[in-house]
Amino acid sequence: MDFRLSPEIEGVRTATQAFIEAEVLPLEADRSNYDEYENIRLDVLARVRAKAKAAGLWAPQMPKARGGLGLPIVGWAAVYEEANRSIFGPVCLNCAAPDDGNMSVLNRLLTDDAMKDKWLQPIIDGEIQSAFAMTEPAPGSGSDPGGMMLTRAERKGDRYVVNGRKWFISGAAAATHFILVARTSDDPRRGLTGFLFHRSDPGWRIVRRIKTLGPEEHGGVCELAFEGLEIPVQQRLLDEGDGLKITQMRLGPARLTHCMRWLGLAKRCLEEADRHVKDRKAFGASLAERESVQLMLADVARDIHTGRLLTMHAAWLIDQGGLAQKEVSMAKIHVADVLHRAADTALQLFGAKGYSKDTVIEWIYRYARAARLVDGASEVHRMVLARHHGRLGNDFWRWGSEQKV
Ligand SMILES: Cc1cc2nc3c(=O)[nH]c(=O)nc-3n(C[C@H](O)[C@H](O)[C@H](O)COP(=O)(O)OP(=O)(O)OC[C@H]3O[C@@H](n4cnc5c(N)ncnc54)[C@H](O)[C@@H]3O)c2cc1C
Repeated sequence: MDFRLSPEIEGVRTATQAFIEAEVLPLEADRSNYDEYENIRLDVLARVRAKAKAAGLWAPQMPKARGGLGLPIVGWAAVYEEANRSIFGPVCLNCAAPDDGNMSVLNRLLTDDAMKDKWLQPIIDGEIQSAFAMTEPAPGSGSDPGGMMLTRAERKGDRYVVNGRKWFISGAAAATHFILVARTSDDPRRGLTGFLFHRSDPGWRIVRRIKTLGPEEHGGVCELAFEGLEIPVQQRLLDEGDGLKITQMRLGPARLTHCMRWLGLAKRCLEEADRHVKDRKAFGASLAERESVQLMLADVARDIHTGRLLTMHAAWLIDQGGLAQKEVSMAKIHVADVLHRAADTALQLFGAKGYSKDTVIEWIYRYARAARLVDGASEVHRMVLARHHGRLGNDFWRWGSEQKV
């Protein structure tokens, strides 16, 4: 077992660390750089993105031939964690959700270079944003798309005609390229199909930008209505009936990249708490000298490292060609909890200040609440995990992966 990073990955990791420290944290500290949705202002973002490109830190997950760094997924884990030391870090390097997951899945699904040039390259270049539209309001579902998706894409000659509703679609208000999953038949296993459509295509609209508890990605989370959107058959992804497979290909690595970023945020909470408890005195001693405070910090540190091991293990399995479904589920459940706990612990140790907007902690605390919902609620991942254990028995514990893509 060799846990050292390769010299190339370690080089990008340390360069990312330095970039975030020098170029991104100062922006984060100045509230005038925030937009009305508590994200980095787009003009400020454009300037720092140009610097990230010049520093050779752009799109760590994309192939070198397309302008990225071509890192393996283990490399993403190391770099994304550093990037999300700042709440603005991932978007500055073009590795933030939802573009990150959309780029990864399009890079895998699109085999034709012309299709990649058209649908993927502008996202990699940071010229446009993208969105992934799967979840539906009741009576549709997010947790059980295979069983309960209602949005229909009906084949009519060389086109599909789409009708239905989606909601909580990240980035939709600002996105140009959309990946859509819709029902093409009632087959329980092969009823869904994936498509691409463009913002300017007629037959769909944004019903509303949904107001949420948390700070927002650029483009928010939106509700969409499809009222006769026509999609040419050439913009279907894979074959008819492959929609669930595409969903897994999109969400598997995307869940893991959430974990990578969330670990960076959790470490940031601990970093802020650490600094504060050394300075803050009460009852004749600094908070850092109190054993009860040390226990709180130690528990979070241990939980974060457990999350790093789960995440890195799953990343390594995917790099070996596995699906790592159960490992990704374990990482997702654990790291979503850790992020929440890290933010909650830091907030508690800051006292009233932690509840204010004077520190970054309350931002992370509100953001963290969505972690147990997005890309599969924690309960659904637990269900999946139990199914894997029931199916695999003692093989559940085998090192390496039994599932190949
Ligand atoms: C900030 C944010 C961004 C999002 N971005 C996107 C996006 O870009 N694209 C997209 O398609 N979706 C997106 N979503 C939707 C997200 O993926 C769904 O919320 C999630 O999959 C859960 O689906 P649901 O909300 O329909 O909950 P439901 O399916 O209605 O489930 C509700 C709750 O029921 C419980 N539950 C469900 N199934 C089980 C079970 N089998 N066992 C036990 N308990 C269960 C869970 O506690 C779950 O939270 C986003 C959501 C949020 C909050």
